[in-house]
Amino acid sequence: MQPVDVLRQLSDGFGVAGFEDEVREVIVGLVTPFVDEVRTDALGNLLAIRRASTVANPRLLMLDAHMDEVGFIVKWIDSNGYLRFAPIGGWDERIVPGHRIVLLARDGTKHDGVIGTAPPHILSPEERKVPIAMERMFVDIGATSKDEVAAMGIRIGDPLTIHYPFSELHGNTVTGKAFDDRAGCTVLIEAARRLAEHELGMDVAFSFVFGEEVGLRGARTAAYQLEPDLAIAIEGTIGADMPGVPPESQPVRLGEGPALSVADRSIVVSRKLIAALEAVAESHSIPYQYKLPTYGGTDAGAIHLTRGGVLAGVISVPCRYIHSPISTLRLDDLERTIGLTTAFVDALPDAIF
Ligand SMILES: [Zn+2]
Repeated sequence: MQPVDVLRQLSDGFGVAGFEDEVREVIVGLVTPFVDEVRTDALGNLLAIRRASTVANPRLLMLDAHMDEVGFIVKWIDSNGYLRFAPIGGWDERIVPGHRIVLLARDGTKHDGVIGTAPPHILSPEERKVPIAMERMFVDIGATSKDEVAAMGIRIGDPLTIHYPFSELHGNTVTGKAFDDRAGCTVLIEAARRLAEHELGMDVAFSFVFGEEVGLRGARTAAYQLEPDLAIAIEGTIGADMPGVPPESQPVRLGEGPALSVADRSIVVSRKLIAALEAVAESHSIPYQYKLPTYGGTDAGAIHLTRGGVLAGVISVPCRYIHSPISTLRLDDLERTIGLTTAFVDALPDAIF
């Protein structure tokens, strides 16, 4: 299976924060052949461990990617069968209306729906200029009464998200939902596959965590139990090379390779670690870029503050339009991120310790 096929499968999977089960099951199937141990913890993290079997008292590297995506949760079902919803994770409210959604009911059935909007014909000129507040938005699933919604198995608390299927655009570019952070999950799975035949210098925990979008929750509990000596979060991050955005405001750009974080709102990365990543990239002729400080926060923020503190950094796949209904990325960026991650693991522990 090629990385693009892994990304396709993960992007199309359902995994709103707190409801990552479907994505986790796909990942278990993909990663298990390449590791020594797979376990799931009480809150839903998936930890896949490769042992450095020839090293005495090996150190541990935590490679982190989050399984969850932003979405919504049903908060009210009205007498006409419309659903009201609250956000799970950060959305730009302006661009939520007018999209297809998929809802996951408690019994495991999935239901299609539409985030409806009042037609412009009936709005006043003032109303047309103002974005609709999320409290006023609604999902139309085709039901006409509260009883019909109940008969479909849908209840308050069911998650939903905007869903567009994965597809390939021109050249190297693909589009789909939830590339933040299914791109990172793809990097971990592919790195595990490529490293399966290599002898490791450190144990590696491929750590697929829950709940990043609601406050770096899974990374915190995963790091606590793993007690890593070093951690790298692999993210899909803010590609903003697009019309109307000046270069100094573009956190990362598509086509320029993996992005190394120097500082974001959650961490200032150790210069020693950045230098080690740069040296590995340069020795393998992998182009890279810096993610401009200090946009966004990542799992590395939670991980580096675990216990007595953990040396941690971030490598990102540039993705445009994250936290919107749909994102894009370039497969050459994805490939180079897998290459850098794999080469860095191969260079451990000497590259840093
Ligand atoms: Zn993310």
